[in-house]
Amino acid sequence: MSINLKVHNLTFRYQSSPVLEGIDVEIKKGDFVGIIGPNGSGKSTLIKNINAFLKPVEGAVFLDDENILKMSRQKIARSMAVVPQDTSVGFNFTAYEIVMMGRVPHLTRFQKEGPQDEKIVREAMDLTNSWDLKDRSITELSGGERQRVILARAMAQEPQIILLDEPTAFLDISYQTEVFDLMRTLNREKNMTVIAVLHDLNLASQYCDYLILLKAGKIFKIGTPSAVMTVENIQEVYGTKVIISEHPINGTPYLSLLPKRINSHNHAGKKKIHIIGGGGSANTLIKLLYSLGHHITLGVLNGGDTDSETARNLGLSVVEELPFSPVSEEKHQENLGMIKDSDLVILANVPFGKGNIKNLEAAEYAVEQGIPAVIYDGLEITRRDFTGGEAAGIFHRIKEKGAREVLLEKELLETLETL
Ligand code: ADP
Ligand code: MG
Repeated sequence: MSINLKVHNLTFRYQSSPVLEGIDVEIKKGDFVGIIGPNGSGKSTLIKNINAFLKPVEGAVFLDDENILKMSRQKIARSMAVVPQDTSVGFNFTAYEIVMMGRVPHLTRFQKEGPQDEKIVREAMDLTNSWDLKDRSITELSGGERQRVILARAMAQEPQIILLDEPTAFLDISYQTEVFDLMRTLNREKNMTVIAVLHDLNLASQYCDYLILLKAGKIFKIGTPSAVMTVENIQEVYGTKVIISEHPINGTPYLSLLPKRINSHNHAGKKKIHIIGGGGSANTLIKLLYSLGHHITLGVLNGGDTDSETARNLGLSVVEELPFSPVSEEKHQENLGMIKDSDLVILANVPFGKGNIKNLEAAEYAVEQGIPAVIYDGLEITRRDFTGGEAAGIFHRIKEKGAREVLLEKELLETLETL
């Protein structure tokens, strides 16, 4: 059986102003979808609308083209199970009884649960590591234990679709990955659709096929983790600067938070710095100056260059040429445009060949325009000149025209203070 879920033009409000507006999304059988967004963006409300717990004021939710509001509770519960954000249970049931409740949608009105149901309950409790808790009262369990029991109840429901609302908020990290590994197994082996609200963006990126990013009740972006978890999108929606790199094992986008000072809105002393680098020569410079909160641009770098990767992870503007191609006139001009707009140009310790000699000309252009320029080197120019002397010639002119040569970080920072 294949059950596709469609949310069509859904608008919802609790009181006057809409909490969800014009939500349109189709989720196919077997998808593993994450819903992300800041607190109050409407994630839980969306889950509750999908589950027919709340009724939209406009639009609708369809399960295989059937409006869920026309379906019985029981029928919905045979297709969809929910692990809500708040799992507190007001009544005094044992964990076993709670999980057995997951079987109710599959029983006819006067039918009692049988050995098959008991088997399913046992399996569900084993899967979620909650069998040991079976005789305990749900009211006396810790948040994490209760979560596992509620998860087992959802499993016992044998749903086509499972909706999870921040299921791991109470759990310690090893159990977080256990829950999501379990979801992934059920997703792959039973083709169960998983729709999870995730607080932790790195978990979202690691497990989900695609992400729905909500901002103030609207879909800001839908797409693969790489398309959604960009520095720009996170800045726009969460209002904070982050670093996006790659997860060391599976290559999914990995988000790191930055110290507050980089995020501070106090721009006093923050400069526009253009760095001419390449091949990793600017790597430490980029990180140093970025961490001090300066606005950094780079150019011209080849696509795939390590400096270019570093810059991209930080969401910086880079003038980029195709991999292994010489700097074209067009990119050179773009580079000059950025230089014209800077407070300081830094020429890093780059080897120069025919392909990137235009970058040296760009540095010369900076000094000619009276833009402060610093040569941050280490290795003598003659040893990194692969142009037969042309690069060294330009390099010396740059020095003659007033670029300051510095060797140490400290000197560079002192220069910055004089600007
Ligand atoms: P999220 O799960 O993304 O944190 P919610 O869906 O819980 O966001 O809430 C979205 C908005 O709706 C918030 O502004 C919240 O204050 C409001 N809200 C949530 N539940 C209720 C409610 N029962 N009554 C009124 N407003 C609510
Ligand atoms: Mg919520």
